[in-house]
Amino acid sequence: MSYLVTIGLEVHCQVKTNTKMFCACETSFGDTPNTHTCPVCLGLPGALPVLNQEAIEKTILAGMMIECTNPEISKWDRKNYFYPDMPKNYQTTQMDLPLCIGGAVPLYEHCYPSDHRKNIQTPDKKVRLNRIHLEEDVAKSTHLGSSSLIDFNRAGTPLMEIVSEPDIESAEEAFAYLRSLQMILQQGGISDADMEKGQLRCDVNISLRKEESDPLGPKVELKNLNSISAIRRAIHFEIERQSEDMDRHVPQIQSTRRWDDARGETQLMRTKEDAHDYRYFTCPDLLPIRTAPLVEKVRKLVPELPHQLAERFERDFGVTRYDAEVLSSDRDLAIYFEAAIDKAIPGKKVANFIINNLLGKLNEQGIAIADCPVKAEKLRSLLALVEDGTLSSNQASEVFAVLYESPDKEPAAIADSLGFKKADAGELEALVDAAIANNPKEVDAVKAGNEKLLNFLTGQVMRNAPTKPNPKRVTELLRSKLL
Ligand SMILES: [Zn+2]
Repeated sequence: MSYLVTIGLEVHCQVKTNTKMFCACETSFGDTPNTHTCPVCLGLPGALPVLNQEAIEKTILAGMMIECTNPEISKWDRKNYFYPDMPKNYQTTQMDLPLCIGGAVPLYEHCYPSDHRKNIQTPDKKVRLNRIHLEEDVAKSTHLGSSSLIDFNRAGTPLMEIVSEPDIESAEEAFAYLRSLQMILQQGGISDADMEKGQLRCDVNISLRKEESDPLGPKVELKNLNSISAIRRAIHFEIERQSEDMDRHVPQIQSTRRWDDARGETQLMRTKEDAHDYRYFTCPDLLPIRTAPLVEKVRKLVPELPHQLAERFERDFGVTRYDAEVLSSDRDLAIYFEAAIDKAIPGKKVANFIINNLLGKLNEQGIAIADCPVKAEKLRSLLALVEDGTLSSNQASEVFAVLYESPDKEPAAIADSLGFKKADAGELEALVDAAIANNPKEVDAVKAGNEKLLNFLTGQVMRNAPTKPNPKRVTELLRSKLL
């Protein structure tokens, strides 16, 4: 039978700062191991932490973008445990007074998996948040056979923990939540949120129950999930596994499981009996933070949210809802689109060209929009040539292909070199008249209502033209003379 699914996510996200949370060591990825360390992030006795203000401000900014509130005072706590990746034997984190409380993440339609967009259960859903707190990342350990390697470059990197309420009801909603969150964090410049680089990591809590009136079932926590698509697969697996157990009346126990991507299954790690007692206590080395002055400062930095940007694109540039959402899904793409907009060119046409031609080409080559060789101004000049009738849309695609390879050239010069030229009106008229005179049979057929033959006549004009005029203009001229 089918059960009601309840999911909550805990997302760890590295905050984009130049230095670590409590020391001046550089934050890094992929550098020679153990080259960005000091007594503080190595946890040497007597070393004292100093707060990274930028990390605190960016966490508050993240909270503001998703409607969180801030407690008047936020403070730091020690979470005590022994593990080789945490040499102090405690992690500095926030327990009862985090920087941000509450809030909600909107699930954008285009953030759902593409094969699921037609089946969205609750459009415009928001997933409520419990809190966002700030802590330090631990060192990175790599296990090789019976030995382990530890790199302390990552130890002390500012890490936000974003805890959702258990509002998520399917694997697809979890997928959309992570995509939406990732987009918001990128848009705010808070994190690059790149899962492949471990900048965004996620634990999933999932439980099943029969009826709405039943209490929540025992929670199963999935750890070590490192891609959004793996999270979707892991949740599907876990729903099926727990459902089969419940069908057979096997009681569920609160437990932690790991996802094995290669085998496509979850495996038991530990049950509640082995849960740690972290003996939290207030950190004696760090003063609490009065949030009001920081909140005031950060309020001015809140950027437009993706859905606000999409609404503005729809309203100001007349693009469709879907196109607006695609264009606002990436901060660099939104900037590019706005830079390519020209009063003389309908926004819809700019959007179409970017989504169909430009993004197609970039995806094919695996290039990010920020590294696009064709600058927005060049694209604007190209689209202006379509708008003034010099180029047909097919011809514009050909010019674009050359422009992409030689981005320093001017679109008009490329059009010239390909023989695409705006014939002057007299020239074009003479060519059209000649085509009419030379093809009386087809002309009669067009006049009798067979408009398809306009294409044939257009082809005749194109063939005899010394340059390649815009076929649309030719057809229009033929139409005005014959119909
Ligand atoms: Zn350090």
